[in-house]
Amino acid sequence: MGVKQKTKSLRARKSELSDTFFQLKVLQQTDKKPNEKKFPAFQHTLHQAGFDELKPETSDLFQLNIGKLCNQTCAHCHVDAGPDKKDEMMSREHLDICLDIIKKHNFTTVDITGGAPEMHKHFRWFVEECVKTGAKVMARCNLTIICANPKYSDIPEFYAKNKVQVVSSLPSFSEKRTDSQRGDGVFEDSIKALKMLNEVGYAREGSDLILDLVYNPTGAYLPGNQATLEREFKRKLKRKYDIDFNQLYCVTNQPISRFLDYLISTGNYESYMETLVNAFNPATVEGLMCLYTLSVSWDGYIYDCDFNQMLDLKMKSRSKHIENFDLELLNQRKIITGQHCYACTAGGGSTCGGEIVSD
Ligand code: SF4
Ligand code: SF4
Repeated sequence: MGVKQKTKSLRARKSELSDTFFQLKVLQQTDKKPNEKKFPAFQHTLHQAGFDELKPETSDLFQLNIGKLCNQTCAHCHVDAGPDKKDEMMSREHLDICLDIIKKHNFTTVDITGGAPEMHKHFRWFVEECVKTGAKVMARCNLTIICANPKYSDIPEFYAKNKVQVVSSLPSFSEKRTDSQRGDGVFEDSIKALKMLNEVGYAREGSDLILDLVYNPTGAYLPGNQATLEREFKRKLKRKYDIDFNQLYCVTNQPISRFLDYLISTGNYESYMETLVNAFNPATVEGLMCLYTLSVSWDGYIYDCDFNQMLDLKMKSRSKHIENFDLELLNQRKIITGQHCYACTAGGGSTCGGEIVSD
């Protein structure tokens, strides 16, 4: 049936939130109204819980956002990706530099994301080169791209041939809920794509091809327990569609970008922040993904995580761009935190690989 756009990017809508400066103003409550609740600074909460500033433990995971071009415009997208983002794509020169870095520093995992990373013209070449380094290669595939155009229909075979770990979003096993967040037709095409991935061996018994799904709430609430949701997803998808997958990652929506716009426009911003702040769980801190990840943007800047990248919170390090990559310096940096970090520490916690602790 094809996918209908759910919305437009903040940039296409000329929303002031397309400027990260305005997002940070909201998060920091710079223009707080007299009746608005003041939330404690994340750094203060961290300190109260017995932690000083966050510092990296290791840098095992090299995450790259190779471009913001996407065939979808999901309502909650923290990247503000969409079909209009043709200009925000990583250059071939920067992909080459990233490859050199991955080889030189033996990163164990390379996590390639977007937008829809498959739409990048050098995507397949880059994946093959990453695989040659011996690192585990993960690709964040929105599923519908596989059905969007015949030129992407062999993506399942390509992934299988290169043993890429596929990580795909599916916010619900209900068509209505999925389409309400991601656009009409998304559920139907996602099911087709999941079947195609299963057919080439992904997640089938005895196969080493890994297909993980990502669940995130369709509204202003925290995700439920990951293990319980995984069991429910597995049962429903198997029974109704004969679909298998490996793990379900539960991810908390970050109050940034298009989800921030959704929260403000539906009057849910304050209550959502209150939920996040009240659910602060100190047990999550040691598992935060910024402690072991480097996140590179399409234009080559290095960030503590994907969310700091989307808020353009640049590191205070001489090595803040891949052209000056210095792992030793990066490992000495202080991680930049802000109010959005409450989304990572709420309840069971949240990373790009799901919850941190079972709550
Ligand atoms: S959430 Fe993923 S699939 Fe949806 S618009 Fe953003 S990048 Fe594209
Ligand atoms: S948003 Fe999360 S991962 Fe990023 S710096 Fe804050 S706590 Fe760390």
